[in-house]
Amino acid sequence: MFKNVALGAFFLFLFYGGYRTVKNEMLELKYFSRSEFGIWWPLMSQDLLQKLDLFREKWGAPVVITSHPDGLGRKDESGSMHNVLKWGEVRAVDVFPQGMDTLEDRQRAFQIAKSVGLTGIGLYTDTRPSNMLHLDNRDKFTYWTRIAGKYNYGMVA
Ligand SMILES: [Zn+2]
Repeated sequence: MFKNVALGAFFLFLFYGGYRTVKNEMLELKYFSRSEFGIWWPLMSQDLLQKLDLFREKWGAPVVITSHPDGLGRKDESGSMHNVLKWGEVRAVDVFPQGMDTLEDRQRAFQIAKSVGLTGIGLYTDTRPSNMLHLDNRDKFTYWTRIAGKYNYGMVA
């Protein structure tokens, strides 16, 4: 009995994974290629990808996806929107919007991210090579900054 359930779950997983892959295969993004998402491409949330593409359009300059191993998907115990074990897909992405250097730039990036419907927005001024933006989709609108390693919720700076 257990074996059959496990087998069923396995095939369901395969089917669902395949379906997701095909779905993203057909997804047309204007500014990003799937190679930029590496191994996480089949698990990327479509909604997130479309909003990221819109963000890029409105930002008007390249938006570089971080090469940090935790910048797309993660597998851990956390409630992070990056955690594929919790959400079954990658709902967050860390990016370097080119030219996001000043407070004014960061506020503009925040407003654009909000306007395209992203609901988790983090601004990091302590990252390299430049300021970083975390973008995600979540139920309750949340934004924060990290300045010199210190998190501040509900603040754009
Ligand atoms: Zn992040």
